[in-house]
Amino acid sequence: MGVEALGRHLIAEFFGCNASVLSDSKKLEEILLEAAEAAKLTVIRSATHFFDPGATSLVLIGESHLSIHTWPEYGHATVDVFVCGEKDPWVAYRVIEERLKPKEAKVVELPRGISPPSKLGTPPCIVDKVVPGFCLVYVPTKYLRREVTEHQRIDLVEHEVFGKILFLDDKAQVSTFDEWIYHEALVHPAMVAHPNPKRVLILGGGDGGALREVLKHRCVEHVTLVDIDPRVIEMSKKLIPEISAGAFDDPRAELVFTDGRRFVVEYGGEPFDVVIIDVTDPISGISAKLFTKEFYEALKKVVRRDGVVCTQAEDVYLSHYTFEISFPTIVKTMESVFRVVRPLRAWIPVFGTEWGFCIASEEVDPTSLTREEVEARLSERGVETKFYCPEVHHALFAFPKNVAKNVEELGRVVCDKDLD
Ligand code: SAM
Repeated sequence: MGVEALGRHLIAEFFGCNASVLSDSKKLEEILLEAAEAAKLTVIRSATHFFDPGATSLVLIGESHLSIHTWPEYGHATVDVFVCGEKDPWVAYRVIEERLKPKEAKVVELPRGISPPSKLGTPPCIVDKVVPGFCLVYVPTKYLRREVTEHQRIDLVEHEVFGKILFLDDKAQVSTFDEWIYHEALVHPAMVAHPNPKRVLILGGGDGGALREVLKHRCVEHVTLVDIDPRVIEMSKKLIPEISAGAFDDPRAELVFTDGRRFVVEYGGEPFDVVIIDVTDPISGISAKLFTKEFYEALKKVVRRDGVVCTQAEDVYLSHYTFEISFPTIVKTMESVFRVVRPLRAWIPVFGTEWGFCIASEEVDPTSLTREEVEARLSERGVETKFYCPEVHHALFAFPKNVAKNVEELGRVVCDKDLD
């Protein structure tokens, strides 16, 4: 059973559009031509028919067609973007949406030319290619948002078990079912390891879950969250507010929209006590340079000597089959820069695997805390959790022999030049 489509067909309903634009058949044709050009599609010819008051405009392209059909009296338009081959229909779609400015848009993507497994169809599934020959197939019940930003493709869906799932470039980022496991494992072992974290930096984390957990520590005075993509934050605030739970509006939180690596390299302010790195998988290109030796060296300069860094560190069992950067290489690369490096892991149901994290510091060893110290720090700081507790703190750092062996045998230091 193949999962690759021959073409991708976006079928959209636009509500609440401006009636005069919808009656302007020439304008509609221009919009389609502009969309085709933006997506680098091969225009063969275009045509429009005016019905008074509605219109149908069509652009025939080498890859199939783009069309708009309008009902100005209802402010309604139906849009079809069907693109065969490798080019991205979402680029053309975005131009049409921007130009018609619907108050509400509903869009589904239909993969064309494949015979899908029985539950696949409409709404379309999302296929995460985990390793060669193995995919996770997510079957949403509904799409809440699909868009392509300057940096990545965003899909927010509803799922019958996982609640809402946020995908970036077809990789699940968080689900409302289990995001707290991921965020508590990412944040609390590092925060608790530090005796008194006041200044915290989060790189990535646009869904707001890591920020929410950091702010639970009463001692925190200031958190800077740096995400490259403002659209992820806007969308998370609006459509999955249960994850950030008001954290973006906390007066201690400051949001910066730029590349996390750039922020670290150019930073000249007061050093941080804790840094949490919650960026997308390094395969996405935009985040890969936040996993290299040169990046960790720059990071070390913005962290106090007793500071603690924790990064998400990929799939513990499989990541080394897919890319230069994997759980073993992240551990080894951190070890080449920091004196104390302690990997940890937690099972995250929506990822279908055990997820790795890695804590690094010059002075602080999270595994040396006693059960009582963990308990005391959580209670002094007023931290309430659902997953993390003193017993779990130590369990997170325990690895089976085969994983520790993989780290030793497959891990290596990844430098910037390895990614060029
Ligand atoms: N839980 C996640 C996972 O599974 O990897 C990470 C979630 S969080 C939504 C990832 C965030 O990293 C996104 O908001 C994305 O925009 C951000 N991001 C990716 N590359 C980045 C970079 N170079 N600098 C800052 N933020 C980045």
